[in-house]
Amino acid sequence: MTEVAFQRCISASCGQTFAINEALVACSDCGSLLDVQYDWDSAKSPRSLREFETSNFESQNRLAQSGVWRFHRLLPFASPEQLVTIGEGKTLLQHAEQVAQYVGLGSGQLHLQYEGMNPSGSFKDNGMAAAFTHAGMVGATTAACASTGNTSASLAAFAAVTRALKAVIFIGSGKISYGKLSQALDYGALTVQIAGDFDDAMDRVREVASQLGIYLVNSINPFRLEGQKTIMYRVLEGLGWEVPDWIVVPGGNLGNSSSFGKAFSELYQLGLIDRVPRLAVINAAGANTLFELYENRKLRWNDGNPDTQIADDYYRELDEAQSCAETIASAIEINRPVNLYKCLRALQVCNGVVREVTDQEILDAKSQVGAGGLGCEPASAASVAGAKQLRSEGVIADSDRVVCILTGHLLKDPDATVAYHTTDQDMFNQILGSRGVQRASFANRAIAVPNDLDEIIKAIQLYS
Ligand SMILES: *Cc1c(COP(=O)(O)O)cnc(C)c1O
Ligand SMILES: [Zn+2]
Repeated sequence: MTEVAFQRCISASCGQTFAINEALVACSDCGSLLDVQYDWDSAKSPRSLREFETSNFESQNRLAQSGVWRFHRLLPFASPEQLVTIGEGKTLLQHAEQVAQYVGLGSGQLHLQYEGMNPSGSFKDNGMAAAFTHAGMVGATTAACASTGNTSASLAAFAAVTRALKAVIFIGSGKISYGKLSQALDYGALTVQIAGDFDDAMDRVREVASQLGIYLVNSINPFRLEGQKTIMYRVLEGLGWEVPDWIVVPGGNLGNSSSFGKAFSELYQLGLIDRVPRLAVINAAGANTLFELYENRKLRWNDGNPDTQIADDYYRELDEAQSCAETIASAIEINRPVNLYKCLRALQVCNGVVREVTDQEILDAKSQVGAGGLGCEPASAASVAGAKQLRSEGVIADSDRVVCILTGHLLKDPDATVAYHTTDQDMFNQILGSRGVQRASFANRAIAVPNDLDEIIKAIQLYS
């Protein structure tokens, strides 16, 4: 009997397969990343995406209410009784007229997929539901991650709610926003702060996990990416199962962009969609490895035979220059994205483009998302800033239908928001000016008034 699900090395020259109940984060033959793959015939895939239109909100079934597991048939690596949920993925595709105008798109052409509305406040919960499910299948007792904040918040939340695993998180020093750190601490995760940056924390956690047999939940874990495919299913659902022209997503470790490409390539193979959207991955200019490799040095997936020398050379240059990633968008402040090759594959599948945006552009875009009433953390706004840039280049047409992914909640990083709107020039300089941000183009400043009724009334009349 063929297994419904298995793991496979992504390298075309290797392609080694592994059983579904092995806990691996790399091919044991060649070291490449692994995919979760399915035998769709025995998995009995759906015939139409409309089969997912059930009245989930009336259902008493916890799994039917999960925005991940109601699409279980498109990620069938576990049986129903093994699935883990804490209520993730109940997110909506939002209209955003004000942001559409800012980006330069026609009315109704821009949508925001607001993944900040997850239990731990970021899209990571989609992937964590799948990773926890797999951790249970392999009998893991402890899970770990390196994190710029949101993966650790998600891991800590899942561990605390499910009591299924102990959580150990590795963070770099001084690079985590208090919103995120407060979650890991409050949820009770063992928190290890390393004197180094994210890339250092990532290297160490891999070593510790392999020595101590700890289950790793970073996005090198292929099951994380299975859960994150469902973000795209919900986007399609929000569009009445029509495929948009563009998906725009911030790029950090490149797990999300990789999973989106996999989602669309599978839906296309299964005949559930008749075309794939184009993918735009947006780097912060201070952490622009993908942009440099893809747009400048022309590194391509090349059907599974990428010229790895191009990336190796670039990483050596970064080392020689002792170059560290540097951006206000801490969630994407990453120079060595672990899913680089999977993302290159997604860019091939989706005829993708990569752009870089400055912290100034990120914060201005963020303020527009906030003014539209949703709000997001800085990294998320890179998607909107990137869409604006692509629109002004004419790569995105004004009649295109565009979906930007808002990856994390506004309250994850209140310092960045308050510093943007503040009248306190010292605070602005310290938090934003130091990163080359020169002005708060859309600041909504608090007005200072004496403690006096007449003065207060005068001020309100003057400014409203
Ligand atoms: C993790 C994260 C990202 C980066 O996603 P990748 O999958 O690592 O590229 C972007 N924004 C937020 C808010 C995140 O938490
Ligand atoms: Zn391999």
